[in-house]
Amino acid sequence: MSSTTESDFQELLGIVRAAFDLQAAAALLEWDQETYMPEAGTEARARQIATLQSTSHELFVRDRTGELLERVKDEYEDSMSFRASIVRVAARDFDRARKLSPELVGEIAQTTTRAKVSWRHAYSENKFNRFAGDLERIVGLCIQKAEAVGYAEHPYDALLEEYEPGATAAQVKKIFDDLRTSLVPIVRAIEGAPQPRNAFLFHSYDADIQWDFGMEVLRDIGFDFQRGRQDISVHPFSTSFSMSDVRLTTRVHERNLTSGLFSSLHEAGHGMYEQGIDPELEGTPLAQGTSLGMHESQSRLWENQIGRSRSFWAGYYRDLQSRFKQNLGSVSLEDFYRAINRVQASPVRVEADEVTYNLHIMLRFELEMLLIEEKIIIQELPELWGDRMEGYLGIRPESDTDGVLQDIHWALGAIGYFPTYTLGNLMSAQVFACAKSDLGNLDEQIESREFAPLREWLQANVHHWGRKLSADEIIEWMTKGEISAAPWLDYVSQKYGDIYGSLVPDS
Ligand code: ZN
Repeated sequence: MSSTTESDFQELLGIVRAAFDLQAAAALLEWDQETYMPEAGTEARARQIATLQSTSHELFVRDRTGELLERVKDEYEDSMSFRASIVRVAARDFDRARKLSPELVGEIAQTTTRAKVSWRHAYSENKFNRFAGDLERIVGLCIQKAEAVGYAEHPYDALLEEYEPGATAAQVKKIFDDLRTSLVPIVRAIEGAPQPRNAFLFHSYDADIQWDFGMEVLRDIGFDFQRGRQDISVHPFSTSFSMSDVRLTTRVHERNLTSGLFSSLHEAGHGMYEQGIDPELEGTPLAQGTSLGMHESQSRLWENQIGRSRSFWAGYYRDLQSRFKQNLGSVSLEDFYRAINRVQASPVRVEADEVTYNLHIMLRFELEMLLIEEKIIIQELPELWGDRMEGYLGIRPESDTDGVLQDIHWALGAIGYFPTYTLGNLMSAQVFACAKSDLGNLDEQIESREFAPLREWLQANVHHWGRKLSADEIIEWMTKGEISAAPWLDYVSQKYGDIYGSLVPDS
């Protein structure tokens, strides 16, 4: 390697690090806003975050970055080395960022700022029409964005790529078709079966005791509190400013025993992904989860495959019971396990159980495709939403607030985002099946609260790569196959067949 190439690479690294640092500073301000900031600080905070983000963006998309990438790119082709990976990922980010004109970026920012307000009004007043105009503009801007970024087959590919690099609309459609065919009959069979009782989960449970129990579980599963912390916020989330400073938030409801614990497990799954990235990648754009779907696979794995499993509660139920003797004293482990896995169709996605959840996502994906293909008009959405929900879940939302208006994502301009939730669920089952076959007696390990082997396996097979490999490359490397619905369907049929009896319809 020539010394010019070396100095070019160092200059490039300096630029991407500085851009990344500004993003981390913005993320810290956002974390603070959701946890400790007094509400009066909202306006100034929004400006400060926007300043940091746009400064980061401007620094990165300068012509100089392009020149440097051009000069070093041949030096590092086709290699998984640190340098080659930096160049590859930076070139991809740069390419995408440069294709979006400052005018389009500005218009998207302005429209979504306005849309967040109109969405909030529409949501609280149950009036879709208050949001319809802004949504129409957002769909138009997303189509423009797709055209600007470019795509091989479908404009939706260009939108999806922002959240799930490597995935395409055709691939998602095929996976969802497979999933739908098997899942709708399973949901129907469960609906016809007797429901486990779960009212005891909603009695009064002291918030401090819940918090302490949750913290103990997080320590056991191996979330590293030397390099992270947990706080309270209205909407649980996780974020990180470096792999050695990862923040989780949760909420604790006195009248809901498990909501806080499961959101803690979920966010810790995200957090351990960030903490598990190869330290060599620290402070670079590679030091992040590779896609939203892969990120979600890690959170769902800890929340569902572990946290809602029989083996987990075989290890923890006695402990929980002793902390809440009055409420749980007469509830058996088996009754508790069934209660936390009760399946009940709800019109609201965030209240959905793990079986019905993916049907909520499918519905959104299908409507987004129709919008991007300009096959429907905005005014048709509430009706189409209701029809599809009835087809998939057998229920119809009673209001737009519980239907088409329930999520903020479209107001944020995030069309192409929803599929990552289901891809995450499906990948979590693929990853977990591989871990099980590699680790042998995983169920016994979970039952005896031994989580280190699983966590280390996840780190070696998923986390340490950061963005060096894409999600489909990780799945391919791990399973010798593609992202697929089959392992998740096996998991669900087995688990819920056991809870609800046979899930195969009679005729
Ligand atoms: Zn998540």
